Amino acid sequence: MERKRSRSPRRLVPPVFSQLNLGLQLLFHNSKPVCVVLKKIKLSEIHTVHSEQNPPEVPKKYWVQRYSLFSKFDEGIQLDTESWYSVTQEEIAAKIAKTCEDADLVLDAFAGAGGNVIQFAKNSSVIAVDIDPYKLELLKNNSKVYQVEHKVQCLEGDFLEVGKTLESIDVVFMSPPWGGPEYCRAYSFDLKGITPSIYKVASVCSELTRNLIIYFPRNINPSQVFELLEELPNFERKVEFHAYYRGNKFYTVACFIGDLVHPDTMQLSKLLIESTQGKYQESGLMQALEIQTSLEQKGFNATCECYLK
Ligand code: ADP
Repeated sequence: MERKRSRSPRRLVPPVFSQLNLGLQLLFHNSKPVCVVLKKIKLSEIHTVHSEQNPPEVPKKYWVQRYSLFSKFDEGIQLDTESWYSVTQEEIAAKIAKTCEDADLVLDAFAGAGGNVIQFAKNSSVIAVDIDPYKLELLKNNSKVYQVEHKVQCLEGDFLEVGKTLESIDVVFMSPPWGGPEYCRAYSFDLKGITPSIYKVASVCSELTRNLIIYFPRNINPSQVFELLEELPNFERKVEFHAYYRGNKFYTVACFIGDLVHPDTMQLSKLLIESTQGKYQESGLMQALEIQTSLEQKGFNATCECYLK
């Protein structure tokens, strides 16, 4: 008699990999072209320490990784319950900050306990906005631990209001409220569920900056990110996704929109304009194929797809 083999459940490919290719590509979303780059970014081994008992209010899985959140944890870092699961790991925050190290002024719209702010402040002046005054107290304390407090200006309030009172900022970063640790249960994280509305937040940003970095869960749906471009009419239609990996474990995605995106996309945009003579309305599969051929003829290493999802 034949035995039935027990099959392990089929792993679904996260949307960022099922919808995009690695590297540079030109996509059509709602008949408009978007220059897209997808990169896998490797992280080093996680620094876990099991020797000390976790405080009762801190889940063990976060406690053992405390030095990956803040390498100077023992020098006086303070976190509240929310920050333990929402703060960005230090290595990721440093990699994000490196992408805009030449910026004079960076704004973090949902600054929390300061994981990202501290890394930005190593190179730039930083405006840290948060609606919760206690988070800003934690952030001030933590910035002192890293000796960057003199580079950080804290503004308490709702970013939708505070953002409207500010003038030109080189880079706006945000890790919007993901809705707690439950976000990863769904196959695809829904941007429409974010409070405050990410579309309104993007619209405030469009008046402030030409460079936006948004930090998202790993199950982000790229097509929803392309929809955000509608709120950013002054931005070039360029998006770069950095998918952070440690071994086989896929953590999170940073999404760069606007001028910060890889310089190759400039060339790609130019070729696109040449190939289409600026007319995108008829964009379809044939056009994508034509552009792909023209890119190849020019020795350009990029893929071009008609994006139908
Ligand atoms: P998560 O769901 O990822 O845990 P939180 O609800 O903790 O996110 O929010 C992330 C940070 O954003 C917190 O520090 C919170 O105080 C802050 N925040 C939430 N809403 C706003 C807002 N409208 N303006 C500015 N900061 C906000």
